[in-house]
Formats: sequence, structure tokens, C-alpha cells
Amino acid sequence: MTIRAGVVGNPVAHTMSPMIHAAWIEAAGLDADYGKFLLPLDGFRAGIQDLAKQLRGVNVTIPFKEQALGVADWAEPLAAASGAANLLLFNADGIEARNTDGLGMLVALTEQAPKFEIANQPVVLLGAGGAARGALAALLQAGAPEVYILNRTLERAETLADMDKRAFALPLGWAAEAFEEAGLVINATSVGLSGVDDLDLPLDALPESAVVMDMVYRPLQTGLLRAARARGLLCVDGLAMLIGQAVPSFEAFYGRPPPAQVDVRSICLKALGQTETAP
Ligand code: NAP
Repeated sequence: MTIRAGVVGNPVAHTMSPMIHAAWIEAAGLDADYGKFLLPLDGFRAGIQDLAKQLRGVNVTIPFKEQALGVADWAEPLAAASGAANLLLFNADGIEARNTDGLGMLVALTEQAPKFEIANQPVVLLGAGGAARGALAALLQAGAPEVYILNRTLERAETLADMDKRAFALPLGWAAEAFEEAGLVINATSVGLSGVDDLDLPLDALPESAVVMDMVYRPLQTGLLRAARARGLLCVDGLAMLIGQAVPSFEAFYGRPPPAQVDVRSICLKALGQTETAP
């Protein structure tokens, strides 16, 4: 029987997950598919209950990652610790929540900033939504000494900072102060998505050794990454993270690792009309 999975979100048109999974499914010769499902902003639970009757599971994107944890019957430790899930598995005995975003973020850092050592300097995390939650849990687990969470809505950052004594909440307007000692800046806001607008950040305040990562991958070269590269800073893009989080998702849906011979990054770059940029 065809194994069916997919991604839910609102919006969901931007996501490249279907392209990645389709390439792996084809190369592995699986009887499987991976769809894209737009759920209404006020209808996440009902939408998931409906999809649970038809699919093996779903990835969850903007803005439902926190709600995803709420519809699950149980959660693996990283999802429970972060309070957000990007992967729901529809098992015979209930819905299981996992978070593979944090792992994807760490894989992206290892690939594109291999010399960066997480335990050495503070991290500045921009955003306090579902993606930031997964990132924070993974950063803390990986040994980040301090994480400064800057968000437009300060209360959300404060709630997130309650997760650990190494996490601190600040208003977005304090970016220059937070940047002074930072080893890594991660944009986990949706600003930059589809190139609509960009955060106007004081990148001059960052040390020369700082790494800048943007979770947004459409466009791949966001305004933030272009500005960081112009300042000579090492950059990590959102596509590396997207592929990094997709690997364990594929394994969970289809019961086998993705075929290693498929260069999904090249496939996605082509679709984005991009060529590889030196980090
Ligand atoms: P979310 O839960 O909706 O959170 C959105 C975040 O962006 C919130 O912190 C929100 O601040 C902030 N924000 C939105 N508009 C803003 C604006 N105009 N100015 C300042 N801040 C603004 O979304 P999410 O699921 O966390 O996803 C966030 C982004 O990460 C999306 O672009 C998503 O595509 C990307 N992402 C990429 C990957 C990957 O694999 N590359 C994985 C996960 C997520 P408020 O709290 O003030 O509303």
C-alpha cells in the first residue's frame, strides 16, 4: 500500500519539503508520496484529525509548530523540551510528536561553519515561534553557554527563556548590545520569507568571527545573509537546515534512510534559480 506523508502549514506554498522527499522516494523506488496541505489558521486540530486517517505522518511548518505539540498524545524528549514539534506521526495507538528542526540546525552549522564551536560564545536567537523553540532546545543540549532570545513580542521571548537559566529574553531593539559578544546569530523569525521584508539589524556590532544563520531559505540569499556576507561574516543558509531536518523525517515516514546518492541540495538550488554560494 502507498505510504503517504506530507507537510502542513499556512502558508505552505513556499516549502521545498515535497521536492526533497519526492527525489528521495523516486531514487529509493518506494511506493510512497509526500503532499502539501494548507490548513486554516483556526482549524489545525480538525485538519490533523482528518489527515491522520489517510497519512503516515506530517511535517509541520509555520505557524503551527506549537499547536502540533498540543494535538499529540505523546512527545519525544526534544519536542517536549522545546514545546514545539515539526513532525507528527500517526501511529495506531495515537499521535506522536517529534522535533527534528534542532537537529537540522546543528547539521547545517556543522556543514557550513565546521570550525564554529557552540560551547565557546553566546548565541543570539531572533524569534520566539515554533522554529525558535526547537532551535533553543537543541542549542542548550549542544552546550551553548548563553542564548539571548530577541523577539518582536517580548512576552513570547520571556516564556521561551523560562526554559533554562542559560536563556535570556530581550526586545528586538537590543540587538546591538546582544551582538557585541555573539559567536552565532540565528534568524528564526519569518521575516525575509519570500523576500517581502528584512530585519534591519546592526551587523556592525558583531565580532568578525561571528557566524550568521538564516532559517529562511526562500529566497536562499536573504537580506540578512547578503548583509552578513558583505561584512565578511561566515553564513549558514536555511536550505542546509531544511535538508538536515528532512532526513530523520523521511526515516520516520518511510522506514528507511534517504538514499545517499541523491544530491537534493542541487535539486533545490536549481528550483530556487541559485548556484552554490561560497560560505
Ligand atoms: P512562527 O511560529 O509563526 O513564528 C514566527 C516568528 O517570526 C515569531 O517570533 C514572530 O514574532 C516573528 N515575526 C514575524 N513577523 C515579524 C516581523 N514583521 N518583525 C519581527 N518579527 C516577526 O513561525 P516558525 O514556525 O517559528 O518559523 C519561522 C521561520 O523559520 C519561517 O520563515 C520558517 O519557514 C523558517 N523555518 C525554516 C526551517 C528550515 O528547515 N530551514 C525550519 C523551521 C522554520 P512575534 O512573536 O512577535 O509574532
